[in-house]
Amino acid sequence: MDNFRKHINDFTRHLAPGITLVAVSKTHPVELIKQAYDAGLRDFGENRVQEMTEKQAALPSDIRWHQIGHLQTNKVKYIAPFVHLIHSVDSLKLLEEINRQAIRSKRTIDCLLQLHIATEESKFGLDETELTALLESETYQSMKNIRICGLMGMATFTDNQKLVRHEFAGLKVLFDATSKRHFARSEAFTILSMGMSGDYRIAIEEGSTMVRVGTAIFGVR
Ligand SMILES: *Cc1c(COP(=O)(O)O)cnc(C)c1O
Repeated sequence: MDNFRKHINDFTRHLAPGITLVAVSKTHPVELIKQAYDAGLRDFGENRVQEMTEKQAALPSDIRWHQIGHLQTNKVKYIAPFVHLIHSVDSLKLLEEINRQAIRSKRTIDCLLQLHIATEESKFGLDETELTALLESETYQSMKNIRICGLMGMATFTDNQKLVRHEFAGLKVLFDATSKRHFARSEAFTILSMGMSGDYRIAIEEGSTMVRVGTAIFGVR
């Protein structure tokens, strides 16, 4: 298993210092996650609530768990006590439930708003108009137990690097505009979560601060 540790060290070392690596551990067993933990990783991403809660109970408590996949309102309560960052907030209704459960857990829960940037139909996320409407709503502005820390987006799944770059660049423009317009007095709005195994290099070149990498760390699922 020294090879795995070396692979992780090599991977983290070649990322620029300001980039946070979220190791996407979905479908992988706790034994493998523990090896990645022993190699120094602390941020892990899961897309299914039940899987995350089971793993959270079985693994060290200083792991920062990231919810990266689509989140159903009725599942928020299971992760609210411990989740570190929810990347996939795509409606005001979901944000309201996160706020409600955060109050119950006596926490403030950090969230990213997921933007729809891909040309594909199937991906979740807000468009620009919905983003503005959410941030300008009284409902959002009255929430005390959530904190919006940035944006997340997934590029189109394609070999067309020009398209992928264009989509990431567009999200960076929107991130900067949103930061200026809605978070000028907040220090929390700093995270731009974009880039997966196939496209994290392009994402970083286009301004990503957080990459969500599964396959390139753990191998194919
Ligand atoms: C699975 C997943 C990833 C990681 O994908 P890889 O291609 O294995 O790196 C990143 N983000 C989200 C939202 C995912 O569901």
